Amino acid sequence: MTSIILVDFTMKALFKKETLQDPESENNTYSNFTLKHDTVFCCETFKKYCKKFTVWNYEQGKFAIVDQITYEGHSVQSIDFCPFCGEKIDYEDENAPQKVKRKKIRAR
Ligand SMILES: [Zn+2]
Repeated sequence: MTSIILVDFTMKALFKKETLQDPESENNTYSNFTLKHDTVFCCETFKKYCKKFTVWNYEQGKFAIVDQITYEGHSVQSIDFCPFCGEKIDYEDENAPQKVKRKKIRAR
């Protein structure tokens, strides 16, 4: 008798959202997103890439990669899929967990 379990894996990027006072203007606040360390990466390549480069965008709460390099600087593009293995990235606020993820589990 064999047992096969298939799990539809989705990378989950867990972040913490903080609202901070803007130091330059008293009545303004801004959001700061911090990526939690227990984020499970979809592949080793992406994990290593994140250690090497600053891929996390603190203003948007998403991973962002350099899209274009111009004379004025560079623009970044936020990503929903891993640039290496194509796995979907789920962004989740640790204080506002989403509903149960669909998981394909087949046991035989
Ligand atoms: Zn990946």
